[in-house]
Amino acid sequence: MVKYFSTRGGGSAVSASEAVLKGLAEDGGLFFPDHIPALTKSLKELSEMSYQDVAYEVMRLFLSDYTEEELKNCIRNAYDSKFDTEVIAPLAYAGGAYYLELFHGATIAFKDMALSILPHLMITAAKKNHIKNDIVILTATSGDTGKAALAGFADVEGTKIIVFYPKNGVSPIQEKQMVTQRGENTFVVGIHGNFDDAQNGVKKIFGDKEFGKLMEESGYQFSSANSINIGRLVPQVVYYVYAYAQLLKEGKISDKEPVNVVVPTGNFGNILAAYFAKNMGLPIAKLICASNENKVLFDFFRTGIYDRNREFVLTSSPSMDILISSNLERLIYLIAGSDAEKNKELMMQLSMSGKYEITTKMQEKLQDFYGGFADEAETAKMIRSLCDDCGYVIDPHTAVAACVYEKYKAETKDGTKTIIASTASPYKFTRSVMRALGKDEGEADDFVLADRLSELSGVKIPEAVEGIRTAPVLHDTVCEKGEMADAVRRYLGI
Ligand SMILES: *Cc1c(COP(=O)(O)O)cnc(C)c1O
Repeated sequence: MVKYFSTRGGGSAVSASEAVLKGLAEDGGLFFPDHIPALTKSLKELSEMSYQDVAYEVMRLFLSDYTEEELKNCIRNAYDSKFDTEVIAPLAYAGGAYYLELFHGATIAFKDMALSILPHLMITAAKKNHIKNDIVILTATSGDTGKAALAGFADVEGTKIIVFYPKNGVSPIQEKQMVTQRGENTFVVGIHGNFDDAQNGVKKIFGDKEFGKLMEESGYQFSSANSINIGRLVPQVVYYVYAYAQLLKEGKISDKEPVNVVVPTGNFGNILAAYFAKNMGLPIAKLICASNENKVLFDFFRTGIYDRNREFVLTSSPSMDILISSNLERLIYLIAGSDAEKNKELMMQLSMSGKYEITTKMQEKLQDFYGGFADEAETAKMIRSLCDDCGYVIDPHTAVAACVYEKYKAETKDGTKTIIASTASPYKFTRSVMRALGKDEGEADDFVLADRLSELSGVKIPEAVEGIRTAPVLHDTVCEKGEMADAVRRYLGI
């Protein structure tokens, strides 16, 4: 039975289902398994399995208090026709690398991989732990996560989801995606304020003891769907195992042949999942961590110093515009030798001064990682050259990864076969992509641009874009930033 501890040492061990329900440990640390389990099926056996079966084989090892029936049920409900391909996460070969397409879910970005199963893991966890309350997910979003969470939780019985977004702070397509969200249990509110106001408002409601009491009396309790929940991390381990197994099945690699993995990184969740896969025994050689111009992680891997004190840059890969990569804490804990005290000390420094430095001994344990970054011009050039050479169009996040991989190869001459995590469909960032291809004439709206991209790439416009073109607006609530708690109360009728 795998138990979970806080990376800061506080509190007692909890089961996997309790960790999924709690999200964050009480002392502010992240839950970490007492050991990383080894794969119990051979790579050969895994190569014969469907995505869903691989998901079961991987997830059962981490979520060991879920029964076989419970977990299989969660998997069945998550990885179904919401995805536009039966293989869920296909591989495409282009420009000397295998692109692992993680964008075939409801919102055409990789967060669907985890957010389509998290709601099911949560309600199962609630049942297992005899919680009668409905789970209310409260989220502030700057655009993408909110929609992915809405899509994941929509019509999941026993849950409600409330999303706050800055009314004038998201793109027109992002807003349209959210306000057209179906589902009896969904509630989307625009606020007069920016993303920080939305975030602070949500934190305030979470921390309000009186509000919590009122919720409890009315049969509700809050939970959070953010990326530090192990219920988001564990499902992300699956697709690395699946990708390797598929390459083996297709004879692209031999059994146990090492491969590199390149991940466009923001919060460090996706690449951490690849590191977990490696620690389970998957033959991964290098983990290549790709950053955009917000290159905190690149500097960290180079120097051992994590320093968020710098200018925040807005880029064409907004989901990687992050200065504090919250999931990095799990890696820090691990390379500190599972020393919670040491980790806590560094995290305190981070919150006090925005900076910490790891020891030489810890740095030596980072040999598996390589950090790189790509600036805006390099990213655009990468999109264009891959399209010109292979006819394959990638989004700006994936292009950051592809570009860092090119730099890595030039620097190291490493010829190991490589998987690049492709985290968003080019249709999610149509304007940036068309601009990179030199095809943005400036005036066309995003849907017209999508039509042009389709003509150019020969790839059909995904339902996630096509569907909202004409979809009716179902949410039109707007409130002041000081009125968020009232909006929640009114929606829940409490
Ligand atoms: C969230 C996101 C990332 C970053 O993933 P992390 O797990 O936060 O490192 C990269 N690309 C896209 C498109 C994303 O939505």
